Parts: sequence; structure tokens; C-alpha cells
Amino acid sequence: MKDVARRLADRLVVAPGERARLSRRDPRATPFLDDKSRAEAAIDALVQRLDDWQLRLHAEARQSLLVVIQGMDASGKDGVIRRVMGGFDPAGCHVHSFKAPTALELAHDPLWRLHARTPAAGEVAIWNRSHYEDVLIVRVRDLVPRAVWSRRYRHFVEFERLLVESGTRVLKLCLHLSREEQRERLLARLEEPDKRWKFREGDLDERARWDDYQTAYEDALTRTSSEHAPWYVIPADRKWYRDWAVATLLVHTLAEMRPRIPEPVLDLARLERRLRRER
Ligand code: AMP
Ligand code: MG
Repeated sequence: MKDVARRLADRLVVAPGERARLSRRDPRATPFLDDKSRAEAAIDALVQRLDDWQLRLHAEARQSLLVVIQGMDASGKDGVIRRVMGGFDPAGCHVHSFKAPTALELAHDPLWRLHARTPAAGEVAIWNRSHYEDVLIVRVRDLVPRAVWSRRYRHFVEFERLLVESGTRVLKLCLHLSREEQRERLLARLEEPDKRWKFREGDLDERARWDDYQTAYEDALTRTSSEHAPWYVIPADRKWYRDWAVATLLVHTLAEMRPRIPEPVLDLARLERRLRRER
């Protein structure tokens, strides 16, 4: 299992210093597991282990984990959070969804609203979209000049270095969806009444800029995949594979962090005597 996790991580990582080459990464690929029912069973087991690791992280109260999730509309950001992150105890796990900034947020640097939502020691934070929107939609839609967004890659690498050097592990996941699969999922959102609420008129305008987004994603992944906070590109056309890959990477990451339940120095015999004397 551990071996598969390591090989999966090696397969999906954007090696620091190398181009991400999204067009050469198949969104339908299923490396190391191509059977849906086996994946479903494996996910259940992995989610159990997440709960266990989180308890250790909380008890240790020294390190924290930040999971950054990016991806086009309908790539499954919400789905993966529900299925996989559902394994975490909500008491120590916070999910933050970053939407278009408010006027107050826009009056600050892009990292201002994010820094306040980093995980405290012992906690897990999950970001549904992130600072990367400031080099994705902001670039594609020309919301600030190139001179402004192009400096941000460097800011983000250094911001993440600050977090890592402060005890936060940063796991960055890009859900890689094909244009065809997005079309299917957006159609399903229109057809199924329970899904329609997710659909926004503007979604099709973003979709129309697909190629620009692929370029923006490719540059973002290439320029910000670092030794301290690498990107992983998750094939996302198959939901079961996406969830299995994310759960596997999460367990692998927590195992590498090795959080340990501390052993407090207690005079157990004396404390037990005190409790037994009570009546
Ligand atoms: P959703 O995640 O589908 O609820 O949509 C959230 C929307 O907010 C997406 O269209 C994002 O691109 C947009 N958004 C998030 N962060 C920013 C940002 N920094 N600047 C502009 N738009 C953003
Ligand atoms: Mg949306």
C-alpha cells in the first residue's frame, strides 16, 4: 500500500523545475487502480485511516496540514471534499471556499484573506479554490495587468515556504478534467433539478475560455511546484479514481508527517490513587 502511494505520488507530481505539460496528462487515466468497485472499498478504508491520523495530529498539536484544491468548474472539488475529507473530524478540520473577492479583500494583497485561514497547529484546513485564482481567472479575464499577476507566482512560492517552515505541510491538488467530461457534467447540472442550483450563467463563459485556462493552469503548476510544496495533477474524469487518488495522497502525506501522540510525564500511580480514594 505504502509502495503504491509513493509510486502514485511520483506519477502525479509536477516535478519542481519541470513543465506541467497538462496536454500530456490524460484526465481519464487510472494509474495503479482501474477497477471501480475495488476503488470504492479502498476509499472507505483510507478514509478510516485519515480519522486515525487526524487524531494523532491533534494530540501532537505541533504540525498542521493545508490541502489546496484547484480545478475547473465541475472537476469535483466539492465532491472530493465530501467523500474524502468527510473522514476528518469536523472539530479539527476547516473547509474554506474562496469566491470572487469582496471590496475589502480587493483592497488588500491577494494573500491577506488566505493567511487568516491557514490551519492552526494540530488542525487540517482545506481550501476549495485558493490564492491560485489570482493567477487563473484573474489572468484569463485580465482583471489586473500582466506585470501584477506575473509577480504572484514568486509571492506564492515564498508564502508557502513561510507556512512550511512554520510547521504546515502544504498539499496542492489540481483536479484535471477533460473538456468533454465538463460538458457532460454541466449538462447533467441543467437536466437534474437537484443539481441546477450549481449552474451559473457565467460558467459557460469560463468554459468558452478553456484553452486560456489550460495555459494559465500549466504556467501556475510549472512555476509554483516547489520542493517544499509540490503540485499533484489528479486525473478527474472518473470520480472513483479521483477520490481514491486523493485519499491515497492524503494518507501518504500524513504518514510522512508522522504525528505522534505525546506521552505526558505523569505520576500515574499517584493520580490513580487519588481517583480511587474518591467516593
Ligand atoms: P464556485 O467555486 O463555482 O462557487 O465559484 C467561485 C467563483 O469565484 C469562481 O468563478 C472563481 O473563479 C471565483 N473566484 C475565486 N477567487 C477569485 C479571485 N481571487 N478573483 C476573482 N474571482 C475569483
Ligand atoms: Mg461553479
